[in-house]
Amino acid sequence: MGEVLKIRTTKHTSIVNITHQVAEVVKKSGIKEGICVVYTPHTTACVFVNEGADPDVVRDFVHTLEKLIPWNDPNYTHMEGNSAAHIRSAIIGNSRVIPVIDGQLALGTWESIFLADFDGPRERRVLVFVIGEKQ
Ligand code: ZN
Repeated sequence: MGEVLKIRTTKHTSIVNITHQVAEVVKKSGIKEGICVVYTPHTTACVFVNEGADPDVVRDFVHTLEKLIPWNDPNYTHMEGNSAAHIRSAIIGNSRVIPVIDGQLALGTWESIFLADFDGPRERRVLVFVIGEKQ
């Protein structure tokens, strides 16, 4: 059972907490034990799981990514001019697998699922599939 979420990002770099939307897909699926696959089919966006309680953590992510993989680097050769977005997304990865236990995402207490868009604002798609047993 799967669904495509459409997430409208609002800034050039947007990190959007999508935990609630993913949890809704899991709930609708009726799967009790299994896995939830979250995948974004884009080359300048990615999906990750991390601290969702304190928004400063996400702000520090953005700050550190800018230092590690700066937007402007005279050595980039990709003509589109968004190499940093490609590299940041590739390093983080465009999918995650989260266990489903007792019909719910088995996230840790402080964990949330995020879509990161490094070349927005755009509409981004996130494919959510739930695989497992319904009993
Ligand atoms: Zn590009």
